[in-house]
Amino acid sequence: MKFGGTSVGKPERMYQVADLITRDNESKIVVLSALSGTTNALVGIGDALAKNSKEDAKTQIDKLEAHYHSFIAELVKTPAALAKAKAIVGEHFEFLNIITKISFNEALNKDILAQGELLSTKLFSTYLEEKGIDHYLLPALDFMSIDANDEPQLSAIKTKLSQLLKNHSDKKMFITQGYICRNSKGEVDNLKRGGSDYTASLIAAAIKATVCEIWTDIDGMHNNDPRIVKKTVAIEQLSFDEAAELAYFGAKILHPTCIWPAQHENVPVKLLNTMQPDAAGTVIRDEAGSEGVKAIAAKDGIIAIKIKSSRMLLAYGFLRKIFEVFEKYRTPIDMITTSEVAVSVTIDTDVNLAAIVKELEPFGTIEVDKNQTIVSIVGNKIGSSADVLSKLFDTLKPVPVSMVSYGGSPHNISLLVADQYKIQTLQLLNSGLFGLE
Ligand code: ADP
Ligand code: ASP
Ligand code: MG
Repeated sequence: MKFGGTSVGKPERMYQVADLITRDNESKIVVLSALSGTTNALVGIGDALAKNSKEDAKTQIDKLEAHYHSFIAELVKTPAALAKAKAIVGEHFEFLNIITKISFNEALNKDILAQGELLSTKLFSTYLEEKGIDHYLLPALDFMSIDANDEPQLSAIKTKLSQLLKNHSDKKMFITQGYICRNSKGEVDNLKRGGSDYTASLIAAAIKATVCEIWTDIDGMHNNDPRIVKKTVAIEQLSFDEAAELAYFGAKILHPTCIWPAQHENVPVKLLNTMQPDAAGTVIRDEAGSEGVKAIAAKDGIIAIKIKSSRMLLAYGFLRKIFEVFEKYRTPIDMITTSEVAVSVTIDTDVNLAAIVKELEPFGTIEVDKNQTIVSIVGNKIGSSADVLSKLFDTLKPVPVSMVSYGGSPHNISLLVADQYKIQTLQLLNSGLFGLE
């Protein structure tokens, strides 16, 4: 059971989490995110230190510490529990204060980012202790690891975690941190923003759990982005592939790559609402449930790169040479379209853009379009539905579409539009494909 930031963001939310995890007597591992707003605040502190603005960092640390002091004053009641909670907050903020005094580097930044999940789990554990709820606090840094390419090491995680669980076989409930892990150098690292979902899925796969429940602030995966479109509805069931596409292409409710571990071990994933625990939510499993369009998602800030070359005509090996450039700079390509004289690809980061463009230049004329959005239409067997295509293009008449990817997967059609058309595109498709205004 994984609980996100809003689900642990207030003392009363934590009480509710305690109720939810004790509703049955099943063995479980509970994964917690940082309290909502904390990771953003820690990012701010790291950014200030990176710019050597120590005073700014100190102001932000003090503000966050005050927040935690009022949080614990409400969370626990007994003097013993309050003293323990105060000591926890004191220890982690002392660490942050020490960091402001030493020279800053990227490894320290990762240590800063880890404080949120360490705090939330320790404070929650203190509350459970006060309530007499038997559990064991399992340190994620003892079993969650990534390799030199930042990829989680599922088999190492399996080995370490099963040993830890064996060592505490008298316990039925374990609490652990989402998001944080150790990297190949043994340093504290993380699974990128939103990574607690990834932790949950990795743990579920590692122990072959019966279910991986992701508890959040909405009743499941909706058919469209509820932050942008007014009327959206929850989806009952998604296949692993459909959910993975939606997460990767912008549905924020799930971390972009968190589905594969659960899929690997065929563990069903349920998306549930902490505020409405009895709502059906969404189940993600090996079967799609129904055919047709299920949902749309959008990922903005995309960069399109077009390589035009008359030499591509009849030239085998041309695409390989182009892809090698992206491989060299470890930059994944999201969408690709080709014609006889041009190849267009999209990437989602400009970190190595200048170097990539420089290396592509010998192959032809390069055009770069920033601020683009990929809109993905996801569903079961939509790739073979002529009806979906005609509806799609009919609906999107007012929007200039610059790339279309169709046929690569039976459950995804992706379009590229400029960022300024993102909202309009999602709104038009909500009525055109789902009949929702
Ligand atoms: P948590 O802190 O629990 O991990 P997140 O904020 O990461 O929660 O994810 C939940 C949020 O995802 C929702 O509040 C909602 O605004 C947003 N969201 C974006 N797209 C979707 C979608 N297609 N379905 C449901 N929620 C979505
Ligand atoms: N606390 C981390 C974040 O805000 C991880 C998570 O919430 O999933 O990104
Ligand atoms: Mg999240």
